[in-house]
Amino acid sequence: MNTPDYKIKVAGIDIRIHWTFSLIILYIIYINIKAGQDFYEVGWSVLFVLTLFFCVTLHELGHALAAKRYGIKTRDITIYPIGGVARLEKMPEKPMQELIVAFAGPLVNVVIMLLLLPFIYNFQFQTNENEKVLIIGAANFLPMLGMVNMWLALFNLIPAFPMDGGRVLRALLTMRTDRLQATQTAAGIAKVVAIGFVILGFYLNPFLIFIGLFIILGAHAEEEMVKNQFYISDLKASDALMTNFPRIDRNKTIADAVKILLDGEAKCILVVDEGNPYGILSRDHIIKGISRYGESGELDLITERNLIFSEMDTSLSVVFQLFQESRSPFILVRRGEVFKGIIDAENIAELILIKNARSHPEK
Ligand SMILES: [Zn+2]
Repeated sequence: MNTPDYKIKVAGIDIRIHWTFSLIILYIIYINIKAGQDFYEVGWSVLFVLTLFFCVTLHELGHALAAKRYGIKTRDITIYPIGGVARLEKMPEKPMQELIVAFAGPLVNVVIMLLLLPFIYNFQFQTNENEKVLIIGAANFLPMLGMVNMWLALFNLIPAFPMDGGRVLRALLTMRTDRLQATQTAAGIAKVVAIGFVILGFYLNPFLIFIGLFIILGAHAEEEMVKNQFYISDLKASDALMTNFPRIDRNKTIADAVKILLDGEAKCILVVDEGNPYGILSRDHIIKGISRYGESGELDLITERNLIFSEMDTSLSVVFQLFQESRSPFILVRRGEVFKGIIDAENIAELILIKNARSHPEK
C-alpha cells in the first residue's frame, strides 16, 4: 500500500516518517490548546516533539551505521509515533558484533544526554501536580530534552526483546552457549520482565500493561525466528525445491496470466523467455496490470525483472535470509547455469513445520 509517508535519505539509508506521525502532532496541538496554551506555547511543544523524534532518528541511525561497519545494509528506517524502527537486512550473528550494533542506538541517546548535562545540572525541575500538560518553553526545553534522552537510553536497555537490551543480553549469552539456547534464555527473561510490567501496570499506569504485551509478542517473534533458522540450518536449497509451478511465456498477454491465476492456487507465476527465467508476476502485479493496461496488455509491462537466484547446495537458512532481504515471492534455484526450479516462502514454512513436528512427537 502506498502511504503518503515523508521520505528523506541519509548516508544512503531511506528514512521514512510514517504518515500517522502527523496525528501525534495534531494531538499535541489539541491537548495544548485544550489546556489553555497560547500560540507561542503550543509552538514550543510541537518543536519539542519534533526534536525528540529527531533524537529517535539519530538512535536508529546509530544502529544502522554500526551495522554498516559489518557489511550489513539497512533496508530503511521508519519513524512511528511510538518510536523508530531500523530494518536491518539481518542481525549480525557474531555476539561481539550484535552487542555493538544493539548498543549503538542507546549510546546515541547517552551522548545527547551528556551534551545537555550542563543544562540539566543548572535547571530546577518543578513538578506541578495541578498541571495535566507539561509546559515546554525556552527555559526548560534543553534540560527536558536531555532528561527524555536519558529515559530513552534506559528504556531501550531493558534486557527484554524486542528492546535493544534484549539483544545485548542475547549477545552476552551467545558468548557462553549457542545462539538458539541464548535466544530461548533471553526470551524467557523477557517474558518474566513483561509479566512484571503487566503487574505494575495494574497499580501504576495502564500504559505499562501495553508495554508488557509488546515485550511478550516481540520475545515470541524473536524466539520463533531463531528457532526456524535452526530447524533449516542443516537443509539445502535442493531440499525445498519445487519443480511443478505455473510459468508463462513473456510474449503472452495479461489475460493469459489471469487464466493461470484463476486456474490454480498459485499466487505467483514465473515468466519465461524461450524456457529461461525472465521475470516474476505476482497476483498484485496482474491485478494492477489489468486496471492500468487492460487484459490485452503485454506481460512485459508488468513483469518484475528482479530475479533472485540461489544454487542447489546453498544452505536453506541463507535462502531464508534472501527472502527476508529481497521480499521476492520466490527464489530461483540453479545448478551452474541450468535452471532447476523455485522455492517459495510457504514451502520453507512447511518444511519448518514438518521438522518441528518430528522433533516434538506427540506421545
Ligand atoms: Zn534501538
